[in-house]
Amino acid sequence: MTINITPTDLCPCGSQNSYQQCCLPLHLATSVAQSPQQLMRSRYCAFVVGQFDYLISTHHPDFRHGLTVAQLAQGNTHWLGLQVLTTKQVGCHGEVTFKAWYLDNKHIDAIYEKSSFVLVEGQWLYTEGTQMSTRAPERNEPCICHSGRKFKHCCAKLTH
Ligand SMILES: [Zn+2]
Ligand SMILES: [Zn+2]
Repeated sequence: MTINITPTDLCPCGSQNSYQQCCLPLHLATSVAQSPQQLMRSRYCAFVVGQFDYLISTHHPDFRHGLTVAQLAQGNTHWLGLQVLTTKQVGCHGEVTFKAWYLDNKHIDAIYEKSSFVLVEGQWLYTEGTQMSTRAPERNEPCICHSGRKFKHCCAKLTH
């Protein structure tokens, strides 16, 4: 499930900037990500808004395993928000650990992954990731969607 978004809307990656000042120029290929974290955010955002070509073009060809735009477009995920936990960059290699929250059949879960990135000819590319398991926040913790509200007053309501 992808969303319709206008350039002046807040960027779905949770940066608190508008889409046009954040991930849109990357999706349009008018600029390139300056860091592994920026690439990671723009790839999450591409899932949310359905920029599947961008997901392919920023996935290192040696690690795509035949992944196609058509396969990506079949996904029907209801994304809720992105939390970037740690980032690391050493030379041409980077790592970003994140939780990408989604709603699945009234159940909130996250892709909790440490992703690896490599800089190739000025372009950061996703190579592969190691996934871990996590669980939804406690009721009184901040919501994962960056609304600024407590979880119980926000996305937790989607599970009822
Ligand atoms: Zn963004
Ligand atoms: Zn929320």
